[in-house]
Amino acid sequence: MSNVETIIYAVLAFIFGSVIGSFLNVVILRTPRKESIITEPSHCFSCGHRLAWYDMFPIFSWIFLRGKCRYCKSKISPRYMIIEAITACLYCLAFICFRFLWNGDVWKLVFSAILFPVLIVLSAIDIDHFEIPYWCSISVAVLGAASFLIFSDETVWYERLIAFGIVIVLFAIMVLIGGMGGGDLQLMGGAALLLGYKVFAALFIGIILGAVYGVIKKFRDRKSERIVSHTIEGIAEKWYQNQLDRDIGYVTDGNADIIVGSISEGNPDIEWEFLEEKFWKGLPEKAELSQALREKITDEREGGFKIFIKGNKIEKVKYSRRMVFGPFLAFGIAASWLVGIYIIGWYMSLF
Ligand SMILES: [Zn+2]
Repeated sequence: MSNVETIIYAVLAFIFGSVIGSFLNVVILRTPRKESIITEPSHCFSCGHRLAWYDMFPIFSWIFLRGKCRYCKSKISPRYMIIEAITACLYCLAFICFRFLWNGDVWKLVFSAILFPVLIVLSAIDIDHFEIPYWCSISVAVLGAASFLIFSDETVWYERLIAFGIVIVLFAIMVLIGGMGGGDLQLMGGAALLLGYKVFAALFIGIILGAVYGVIKKFRDRKSERIVSHTIEGIAEKWYQNQLDRDIGYVTDGNADIIVGSISEGNPDIEWEFLEEKFWKGLPEKAELSQALREKITDEREGGFKIFIKGNKIEKVKYSRRMVFGPFLAFGIAASWLVGIYIIGWYMSLF
């Protein structure tokens, strides 16, 4: 392959990727709502005007229209363009790796063409809904299972299994401690089958990026978290006083308990199963508290709270917004899939 040909193919890969990316936008929007992916023609979300072919050029239409609908001038979120651009870049990168690092292994290219869209879709859905769709993790695991046969020279089968075992144990612990979801565990299990030991590079990248983001987010959300904590505290105090007044359902003297709850898709809910009933005199009016929270907390989307009760008073309330990990893990998986051996090589060279 000459240099000119390489450039032409790289550009073609970029264009092909951008078209795939614009299809992914539809998948991301419609799958969680269980809408059909193909039937409806594309239309503006604001005015409903049907889009012409020249409005739907991936990336470029958004840039030329300066992020506005041609017909009603309402703003179009840049994320459609961003997703198209990321897919385009990843396809282009996959081609460059195929050309220069993978010794022209076509299977690697085919796997990339499937893996990257799955990673992009799961990241976007995780950001929107705090959930990694099951079919995304399964897709990664299927690629992993297939790689036992297809890439058997590159990575021996037991390396994949050992990596899988370690990752599952590690993540099961992190899920139990909190902070990681079951979806993250499934995703990384599949990734371990696919990447073998290279999954640890993915994990390392994902956790470092996630931790950096977590610190920034904590700083940024400090004020709003405190406001929500305060609101919950007010509601809980009123409710608890009522419990005491009516002499039903309160924590007995000298004991303490925690009411655990979460806000998901804007709905606050309490996980009553975590109550230590032996510390309570009678059962609390569970529905009353849940209902009061649902009425008062309407602007907060996703998070978890704890109401600490000691004897006859509410001691404090802690609230923190939920954080996504999926996109960081997905980024780690993509990087590790493309250049994982180089990352591990570089890491080893440090010692
Ligand atoms: Zn419009």
